[in-house]
Amino acid sequence: MELVALGTGAASPTLERNVAAYALLRLGEILLFDCGEGTQVQFAKAKLSMYKVSKIFITHLHGDHFYGLIPFLTTLQLNKRTTPLEIYGPKGLREYIDFMKRISQVGFQYDLKITEIDEEFEGGIIFENSEYVVKAMPLLHRIFVLGYSLEEKEKPGHFNNELAEELGIPSGPIRGEIKNGATVTLENGAVVTPEMIIGDPIKGKKVTYCTDTLYYKNSIELANESDLLIHEGTFDPDELEKAQQTKHATSLQAALVAKESNSKNLLITHISSRYVGANRNLIKKGIAEVFPDFTIAKDLMRVKI
Ligand SMILES: [Zn+2]
Ligand SMILES: [Zn+2]
Repeated sequence: MELVALGTGAASPTLERNVAAYALLRLGEILLFDCGEGTQVQFAKAKLSMYKVSKIFITHLHGDHFYGLIPFLTTLQLNKRTTPLEIYGPKGLREYIDFMKRISQVGFQYDLKITEIDEEFEGGIIFENSEYVVKAMPLLHRIFVLGYSLEEKEKPGHFNNELAEELGIPSGPIRGEIKNGATVTLENGAVVTPEMIIGDPIKGKKVTYCTDTLYYKNSIELANESDLLIHEGTFDPDELEKAQQTKHATSLQAALVAKESNSKNLLITHISSRYVGANRNLIKKGIAEVFPDFTIAKDLMRVKI
């Protein structure tokens, strides 16, 4: 998987940082997390195709996380998308989309499947297929907010073709049977079990996205053992009071969540526009001592997972 940071800022877009959006690239599809204003322009800058987006996950209904949604959906319509699109997010999304469709008198010819999650939701699986599972959990902010994690399922181990040749296993259906878990007897009488030929299962990767939120236990639970945790750090560690007043986290608290959840890497996002110029490095203060494997997100940055 590969993650592309499309918007890493907080509240309002600046020349340096657009508002929240992250594209997660998987085999042939893109999963979009948040869709702040200008997200479709960021797609163009990142040379990504909007048409590959299969699912959009919205964290909460503050403008910097979803005001790009209607323009995004409308452009897909103008370009005659026909493949269905799924949107997940807090209750209110449907009303917003319906209202905009009504006053603009637009319709979408592609199938738009909206899954609204209400405030009683305590966390759990919201989507699952044969390849991965998406979970959501409520976090803690001024309005109802959801964190999301995507975890790939275990993949079968590598089939050792060289060893298969050595053992005299003919190409064709018999190899398929072994791949499917069958023990086979060859014409020469040798018995071959799948364990002899196939390596250990390959563990899937996990990505977690937590914004906007205070430092909160649910973030730690959701992010458990993530390969990559994307967590907000709107303010620097010395601005804890300001973070608490506005129900945001500091960069140091993002590092604590990464450490306590046993995550491997941390990407700190939702950076306030105050951290430019001489203030740029304040956001990094003391982070490495808590969690060394961190990066301050930048727009259009790509991270392999
Ligand atoms: Zn925000
Ligand atoms: Zn917010």
